[in-house]
Amino acid sequence: MADQAFKIPEYREFPTIPALVPGAMAHSKPYVANEKIQQEMGFPGQLVDNWEEKAIEKFGELLGKYRSLKVFMDSCVHCGACTDKCHYFISTGDPKNMPVARQDLMRSVYRRYFTLPGKLFPSLVGARDLTREVLDEWFSYFWQCSECRRCSVFCPYGIDTAEVTMAARHIMDSIGYGQKYSNEIILKLNKIGNNLGLPGPALENTLEGLEEDVKDDTGVDVKYPLNVKGAEVLLVTPSADFFAEPHIESLIGYGKVFHAAGISWTLSSYASEAGNFGLFNGSYEHMREVALRVRKAALELGVKRIVVGECGHAWRVAYAFWNTLSGLGAGAKDPFAIELQNQLDPRYMQPSHICEFTWDLIQQGRLKFDKEKNDHRIITFHDSCNVARASRMGNYPGGQFEIPRNVIKAVANNYVEMAPDTICESTFCCGGGGGVLTDDLIELRVKGAFPRMEALKQVADGQGVNFMATICAICKAQFSKVLPYYGFDMRLVGGVHQLVSTAIRLGDEQ
Ligand code: SF4
Ligand code: SF4
Repeated sequence: MADQAFKIPEYREFPTIPALVPGAMAHSKPYVANEKIQQEMGFPGQLVDNWEEKAIEKFGELLGKYRSLKVFMDSCVHCGACTDKCHYFISTGDPKNMPVARQDLMRSVYRRYFTLPGKLFPSLVGARDLTREVLDEWFSYFWQCSECRRCSVFCPYGIDTAEVTMAARHIMDSIGYGQKYSNEIILKLNKIGNNLGLPGPALENTLEGLEEDVKDDTGVDVKYPLNVKGAEVLLVTPSADFFAEPHIESLIGYGKVFHAAGISWTLSSYASEAGNFGLFNGSYEHMREVALRVRKAALELGVKRIVVGECGHAWRVAYAFWNTLSGLGAGAKDPFAIELQNQLDPRYMQPSHICEFTWDLIQQGRLKFDKEKNDHRIITFHDSCNVARASRMGNYPGGQFEIPRNVIKAVANNYVEMAPDTICESTFCCGGGGGVLTDDLIELRVKGAFPRMEALKQVADGQGVNFMATICAICKAQFSKVLPYYGFDMRLVGGVHQLVSTAIRLGDEQ
């Protein structure tokens, strides 16, 4: 990694607040979406002539629609509690990566156009016109936020910078200034059914190949079914699970769990993606389109349960938004939603996370493990932001922290926690969430991973940790890429169900 064009942060003896380096990341910008992508998304192809007027109009619309945004614009007291909580600030020292400064990029414009003092005496209240320079600053620094919500945990007012970021991105999309990576992914999903653009026949081939591999490995006919009508469970999982390493190891594990428990299940080629990048752009319309695919697949296949695979932001969308977006779960009143609510089995949480599903089976004694098969691993767990701070598992507070750890401890003997201020609610982002998992932002990604790498190094050096489990497709992809920059093997990261897969007894081994 000696030839990269940027400096990798160096491990520190004691984590301290970094010295300020103004403008350190001002050059960091993702590629702008081209005209074709923007238009297919329903946005202007390029920056519209009257973009300032349109941006303020959209801003006003969002302030009227989302009361939280208005409250966040008005309530910051600049106490500074959030300043050193963002992984991008810690690793770059760029003051504009302080959460409060990121919010102020938008708040200064809010003051100018939506408050009386800002209209009358802009310079006295820190109000700014939305100039091209300010817009470019938005594009740079709102694409340096992974929407991880760590800062909001420390804010006495609960101000959620992630929501501010989403609103800014939404405004930029609406005036023709979208980000290439996220918008391209949303389009692929809408056209083909998944983020990777993997068509149905290719998916079928992949799953057949997987069945052969698992048979060779275990001697057991574990099935990875696709589009099976009448199956009990529809599994919606991130498409990276179908081919990427280490993701596929978790998919193998899910199949083994269903097999060992004797529960029929299916994947859907139409809804072959749990990820939902509409969240990252703050676009509820796009988020809804993706969610509706899951509803349609569930209705067509006649399943009784919907289970979501290991993906952080997908679980957030499923847990927090599916009900109002599409009637998955409870809440919506349109005929399809009511049909679905009548179809799904009310005895189960709908949707369920795969960790909840596996943990329920473990508690019922329906799964058996040879834990010593994981003895070559000393395991730690990286809580993924969207699971930790934006959703829950089980029906009690903190279930999202306990249940994945319970599953790990049920299948493995050696478990170690990382430092308390880097896990659970205070977990650090992997550095690649929220739509920044693209190679044009590799510097940001590598630097953003630094606080997690420091915590990992502590337990790797101190307790010999050699496996970091996580339940997020983005975390897995991000860590596989950035671990080598910090002197670790890329195979150090893997899924919780990879560990389940190693230890589970299938019941009919040869
Ligand atoms: S949401 Fe996360 S990435 Fe964004 S400013 Fe807060 S801590 Fe930083
Ligand atoms: S912690 Fe909250 S109130 Fe304090 S500066 Fe940060 S956003 Fe503003």
